[in-house]
Amino acid sequence: MKIAMISSECVPYAKTGGLADVVGALPQALAGLGHEVVVILPLYGCIDQEKHRLSPCMEQLGVWMGNTLEWCAVHQATGDGKVPVYFIEHNKYFQRDGLYHDAWFNDYPDNPRRFAFFSRAALQLLRDLYWMPDIVHAHDWQAATAVAYLKVWHWNDPLLAKAAGILTIHNLAYQGVYGTEHYDYSGLRWEHFKPDIFEDHGRVNYLKGGIHFADRVNTVSPTYAKETLSGPLSCGLAPFLSAKGDRYLGILNGVDYARWSPGNDRYLPLPYSADDLAGKAAAKELLQRTLALAVDPTVPVIGIVSRFVAQKGLDVVASALDRILADMVVQFAVLGAGDKVLEQYYGALAARYPGRVGAYIGYSDELSHIIEGGSDLFLMPSQYEPCGLNQIYSLRYGTLPIVRATGGLEDTVEQYDEKTGAGTGFKFQYLSPEAVYDTVGWAVSTWYDRPAHFAAMRREAMAKDFSWEESAKRYVELYRRALEDKKP
Ligand code: ADP
Repeated sequence: MKIAMISSECVPYAKTGGLADVVGALPQALAGLGHEVVVILPLYGCIDQEKHRLSPCMEQLGVWMGNTLEWCAVHQATGDGKVPVYFIEHNKYFQRDGLYHDAWFNDYPDNPRRFAFFSRAALQLLRDLYWMPDIVHAHDWQAATAVAYLKVWHWNDPLLAKAAGILTIHNLAYQGVYGTEHYDYSGLRWEHFKPDIFEDHGRVNYLKGGIHFADRVNTVSPTYAKETLSGPLSCGLAPFLSAKGDRYLGILNGVDYARWSPGNDRYLPLPYSADDLAGKAAAKELLQRTLALAVDPTVPVIGIVSRFVAQKGLDVVASALDRILADMVVQFAVLGAGDKVLEQYYGALAARYPGRVGAYIGYSDELSHIIEGGSDLFLMPSQYEPCGLNQIYSLRYGTLPIVRATGGLEDTVEQYDEKTGAGTGFKFQYLSPEAVYDTVGWAVSTWYDRPAHFAAMRREAMAKDFSWEESAKRYVELYRRALEDKKP
């Protein structure tokens, strides 16, 4: 199959969250299964063209947006050679430091134009390359209009008409809802501006329109797929997702063990495995030194690596932390950025609890690896979590996750059984400061009082395999079904 992935993020070029990890790894896994894949990204100002060896590929690509013909250029990187990555260069829209917002987390006001343009340009690029896809696979609201354009503008196009449109939703809370003043520019039709397609209380909802037009829609874990068919986690889209019937489902993300594995992690002082944890002890010491924690192998370190947004439950952790630190002998290693109130709180915490809390407010790939490797436990109390990658990384690093049982956290972490010592982590149901306190207490008491259980869980966690191969096979199955439906 020939598969074109259209996404606003992809490692190692541009990343704000898990979407980038998925789009960095899934195409490789699909290529490994024998499929031909290309990835299309915007050329953001923050992408280091020299480092990633981008080369010009097309000087002029004309893209019709409403009545405006926009001209852009295209660059290419070959990465590891298996999957070509194309970058749409349009400085008016992408020559900025941020992907979606400025340094104060204010959304760029022209985001609806930027990403409608990007989605349309991606399809135009396939045409100009004479690259005939079987599958156009769009990710999140930023690329959702691509599956709509496919149906609205390319239904009769000899190159694109046969392609099935797949939409993967990585987080239903981000839908791309904007005023109608951009609708003409997007080139979408007013006949599609109605409540079951693009209209959302008088505004334009890109994700909703994408859901309507996609041949198949999926999200990134089976439990989150169920959770989003009703109730608050559907963020208002339950009727539209339900209407898809079995054309909406959850496929668990895999992880890229080439990047996230203690046996070959370039940021860790020594490689380690379940049979030889000396490298984990060295990573812990490095972490404690890096974040100015007291260097002590006997105290459990709880890691947190997160975007600071309401979804992640870190405000609730904040309400429990003073009690946890008063009652338990434990350390915290925190890495995150986002919400300014949380940034201030966690930044100041390190000064309030010197040697016991270490925090770095900002973005650091290196520190995120050191926290995964050097911590003993990993706290992820999300209100909701479409899949979550950090808890899966934690399992592989023998860093037992403490999670709320929701979405992908529920699907990937197995509850500790205090009778047998089985399980891979510690789960709780309802997000409250008491639940966080109790579950952290349960994990910490397991560290001190039942070290044999802790060691057995670590071994079990490290043996879990969430590699992309299985998930990629499910995507192939999804593509096949979508193509079968399109047969006359
Ligand atoms: P989400 O996509 O909601 O942010 P995931 O758990 O799926 O959550 O993925 C988060 C990814 O982003 C992980 O790879 C994690 O290591 C990374 N990440 C999040 N915040 C930071 C940060 N401040 N510094 C470095 N990496 C981060």
